[in-house]
Amino acid sequence: MPKKLFIQTYGCQMNQYDSERIAQVMIRNGYVQTERIDAADLILLNTCSVRDKAEQKVYSALGNWKEFKDHRDGVIIGVGGCVAQQEGENLLKRVPHLDIVFGTHNIHKLPELVEQVESERARPVEVTFYRDPAYMEDVDGRTQVHGAKAYVTIMQGCNKVCSFCIVPHVRGREVSRPSAKIIAEIESLVAQGVKEVMLLGQNVNSYGKLTPGEWSFAELLRRVDAIDGLERIRFTTSHPQDLSPELIEAFANCAHLCEHLHLPVQSGSDSVLARMRRGYTRQEYLDRLMRLRDRCPKVVFSTDIIVGFPRETDAEFAQTLELLESVKYDEIYSFMYSPRPQTVAAKLFDDDVPKGVKKERLTKVQTLQREISLGKNRQRIGELEEIFFDGPSKLKNGQLMGRTRTNRIVNVAAPASFIGQIVPVRITSATANSLLGEVLWDKSGADSQLEGNRL
Ligand code: SAM
Repeated sequence: MPKKLFIQTYGCQMNQYDSERIAQVMIRNGYVQTERIDAADLILLNTCSVRDKAEQKVYSALGNWKEFKDHRDGVIIGVGGCVAQQEGENLLKRVPHLDIVFGTHNIHKLPELVEQVESERARPVEVTFYRDPAYMEDVDGRTQVHGAKAYVTIMQGCNKVCSFCIVPHVRGREVSRPSAKIIAEIESLVAQGVKEVMLLGQNVNSYGKLTPGEWSFAELLRRVDAIDGLERIRFTTSHPQDLSPELIEAFANCAHLCEHLHLPVQSGSDSVLARMRRGYTRQEYLDRLMRLRDRCPKVVFSTDIIVGFPRETDAEFAQTLELLESVKYDEIYSFMYSPRPQTVAAKLFDDDVPKGVKKERLTKVQTLQREISLGKNRQRIGELEEIFFDGPSKLKNGQLMGRTRTNRIVNVAAPASFIGQIVPVRITSATANSLLGEVLWDKSGADSQLEGNRL
C-alpha cells in the first residue's frame, strides 16, 4: 500500500504552486495524495507569513493535529513555507509532536528529511537558502496542469527593501530560473494542451536583472509570446519600480499577453510611500500607468493597498482614496498593516494606528472600490469578450465560470465541453465582483469584432 500524503496550504498563489511541487516530489517517492487528514501517513502544513498572525495560526493548527499522531503509529508531521523559514528550530521546541521543519528553498530535500525521521527518529530542520537556481528544478515535468492553465515559476525571492515586507527574509534574495528551462517547460505544457500560463515570482518584472547574460523580463515575455499554440500569458506579481519602458512595449506588441497588470501601489501618499521605502512617488507610479495605457489602451489595472501603516494620518489616508478614484482599478486587494518580524517598519515604528481606525479605513477603501468596480463592470454590458472557461461557476447555479483577457470573472450558461476552451461571449449584466454573459452561438462576425476589440 502506498503511503498517503495530506497537504494544508495557507497563503498566495506561490504557496499553492509550492504545494504542488511538494506533492510531486513526494509522489515521485511513492506517496499518493489524500484529502483526508485522518488517513494520512505524512501531514504537511505549507505556511505563509506575509500578513497578520501567521505564526499563531500555524501553532493552533499543529496543536489540533496532535490527535492524528496519537491515534495512528508512524504518522509524520512537517511544516514548510515562510513560517518554517522564519521560526526554524523554535517550531520544534514549541511543538513536541512536530517532526520536520523545511524552508522555502528546501522542497527538494523533503524525501531525505522524511527518511531521517523514519530511519533515525531524527527531527530535522532544513532552512538553507540557495543562490543557484538549480534548487527550483526539483521535479521532472514539474508543473501540474489544471485543465488548460498552468503556473510556471520564473523567479523566487525579492531584493526590494519595502519596510513592511517579510518576503526577502523568508523567501531569500532574487534568483531567476534559466530562461532556456522556462521556455522548454512552457513548450512542453503547450504540447500537453495548456493554453494559458501564469508566470510566477515575488517580483517577476525584475527577472534576469542579477544574472549576467540572461534575458530581461520583457524579452522573456516576447519569447513566450512566440510559442506556437499558447493563447494567453499572465504574470504576477510586479513592483512599480521595474515597470520598464521595454515592458510597456511588450504589452503593446505581444499578442498573447493579457491586458491586465497587477501593480501593487500600497498607498496614495508620498510620505507613507517614503516610510514604506517603496522607491517611487505617487506621481511616478501614475506616470508609468499612463504610459502603459497610452501604448495599450485596453489594459486594466489591479493593486494592493495597505491601510493603517505606522503614523498614517487621516490626510495621508485620504490620498489613497483619491488615488483609487483617479486610477479606477478593476480590482484591489486591501489589508490592515500588521508588523512582521525582522522588518524595518517593525523595528523603526510603533504600530500606532488604532485597530478601530484601521478597520474603518479598510471599510472605506473597500466600499469605494466596490462602487468603482460596479461602475466599470456595468460599462462592459453589451461588449463582446473572449472567455476562457475554467470550470463550474462558484455561484453553484449550473453555469460555467471563465475569465476575460482583462481577468474579469464571467458566469455563463454553457455546456461542460466548453471548459478549457476560449469562446466569444456577450456580456449581459454586472455586479461589483463578476459579469454575466451569454454564448454567442452565431459566431459569424464575432472573430473579426474580437480582433478589432484588441487593437
Ligand atoms: N511584490 C509585491 C509588492 O510590490 O509589494 C508584494 C506582494 S506581498 C506578497 C502581497 C501583499 O501583501 C503586498 O502587496 C501588501 O499589500 C500586503 N502586505 C505585505 N506585508 C504586509 C504587512 N506587513 N501588513 C499588511 N499587508 C502587507
